[in-house]
Amino acid sequence: MADAKGGIPRSKMTAAERRTRSQLAQVLSQRAVIRGTLLVRKRKCGKANCRCARGQGHQSLFLVISENGRTRQFFVPKDWEARVRQWVADYHHARDLLEDVSRIYWNKLRHRRD
Ligand SMILES: [Zn+2]
Repeated sequence: MADAKGGIPRSKMTAAERRTRSQLAQVLSQRAVIRGTLLVRKRKCGKANCRCARGQGHQSLFLVISENGRTRQFFVPKDWEARVRQWVADYHHARDLLEDVSRIYWNKLRHRRD
């Protein structure tokens, strides 16, 4: 049973819940996480005689984030692309695990069962 502050002893968790929480703790303690959506955009570099001035532009990767109702974009340099993609993936992994834990407690609330 939950204590007055809502804490739950591990002994009261199902094996599945403990497993999910362990995975979440592992991601958060060992991985970098970053929230945002990766977007490829074509941009012109501004040099008048570059091929991009006539053509489609250079492909650039941006991380688009919304925060406090504002949208911002961060340019992702080529040599940062692999790690930023991994950070975004790890963020989603952590979020999915947290959602799995939350789902357990939605059900406890719905069924008034601790
Ligand atoms: Zn150019």
